[in-house]
Amino acid sequence: MNKEDILALADLTWEQFRTNEWSHLYVGRLNKGIPIIKLTNAKGGHAYWKMDDNGRRFVYKITIPNWIFAQADEFQTYYVVHELCHCIYGDHKTLFKNLEKSILAEWGIEIEYSRAYPKRLYSNGEMVYESWREKRKKRNKRC
Ligand SMILES: [Zn+2]
Repeated sequence: MNKEDILALADLTWEQFRTNEWSHLYVGRLNKGIPIIKLTNAKGGHAYWKMDDNGRRFVYKITIPNWIFAQADEFQTYYVVHELCHCIYGDHKTLFKNLEKSILAEWGIEIEYSRAYPKRLYSNGEMVYESWREKRKKRNKRC
């Protein structure tokens, strides 16, 4: 994907938030603000929100690191979805994961968790991403 694809993906995902099966839990939050996505050379992504200058709306600021462009499309999608979910929930608890899983499913992606982050990602039943930790475990087993 390129930068425009990432921004379009973020817009579409934000729309999915409105119709998602869990939207009744957070729809108030959605209506209070809009996400602003920035691609940077930062090491990691993050999301935070602040009030706008008029004190009327939330501005959700999301940073996506440029290194994700070297990853598979599914991982890029996962990354954007993850950060957008943080506009709704600040932690990685059950409600966050329910939302993340459900939105990813709409993009045809299934996630296998290792705590907060994916151990593996699947698309159409095929593994499309595996964390370096899991890869290392496999390598060690072979030795
Ligand atoms: Zn997170």
